[in-house]
Amino acid sequence: MARKSSLIAMVLLGMAFASPAFAKIRIFACEPEWAALAREVGGNRVEAFSATHKQQDPHHIRAKPSLIASMRHADLLFCSGAGLEVGWLPILLRQAAPADLQPGQPGHFMAADYVSVLEKPAIVDRSLGDIHPEGNPHVHLDARNIVPLAQELSRRLAIVDPPNAQVYAEQTDAFVRRWSHKLAGWEARAAKLEGMPLIVHHKSWAYLVHWLGLKQVATLEPRPGIQPTPGHLNELLKISRTQPVKAILRTPYDPSEASGWLSSKTGIPAITLPYTVEKGAATGALQALFEETIALLEKANKADHAGQ
Ligand SMILES: [Zn+2]
Repeated sequence: MARKSSLIAMVLLGMAFASPAFAKIRIFACEPEWAALAREVGGNRVEAFSATHKQQDPHHIRAKPSLIASMRHADLLFCSGAGLEVGWLPILLRQAAPADLQPGQPGHFMAADYVSVLEKPAIVDRSLGDIHPEGNPHVHLDARNIVPLAQELSRRLAIVDPPNAQVYAEQTDAFVRRWSHKLAGWEARAAKLEGMPLIVHHKSWAYLVHWLGLKQVATLEPRPGIQPTPGHLNELLKISRTQPVKAILRTPYDPSEASGWLSSKTGIPAITLPYTVEKGAATGALQALFEETIALLEKANKADHAGQ
């Protein structure tokens, strides 16, 4: 009899763990930085998946079957928005997303809707191939933006998963406290970086430049998304010989040829900044991203190079 009742208890326990109350909330993040933030806010109540990894240009990926499958089972969508994923996210939404993840639903969370979007054009014009027609979508590199985004994510998780609302709120408060402390330290260090002149490959760094008070002198791309032309590069060569430039920045996914060429002609160091975190990054990775980025900028700012 005792054996029978313990068996029943085990079966009931198994059922409880398999029931929706114990199932993790599945978050489909378009970029690794949002999956990382979701792990900070959601802790062990969520399972965050990133559609892209650090070596992929989030403007351009293929809506492959594995992404369709992940989207089909997701409870919440968390992306940059402002058109960053316009080449692939609408296909996934149309083909696979549940009704709760469609635009306008709490499960459809676009970061750009909750921060000030930079470089918004007065007139939207895609005719010249500009891939930032809605403004600059690379919003995560202003570390101040992380706070309202964590809070909004927590609010949405509370709607999607009401029994754990309190857990999300507490985890978010703790994260925001830690983040605010770090933010103050980064901003103190940035005082020495103010006005640091940079050439960038793509306008991936607009928010970092804005936040830290750096100076973007020029872009290797003549327009966002248009690869550098010989004529444009020769213009940049002239510019970088007439004014100081501390570094040429690119992401891990930008092609290296143009920055390598300009660096070889001028002696200005070409630097790859991390831009985002690893795909399955553990908690703490977002903080490490900013630590590493600022440390690399500090090093480049201090160094004298042949072009100076
Ligand atoms: Zn872009």
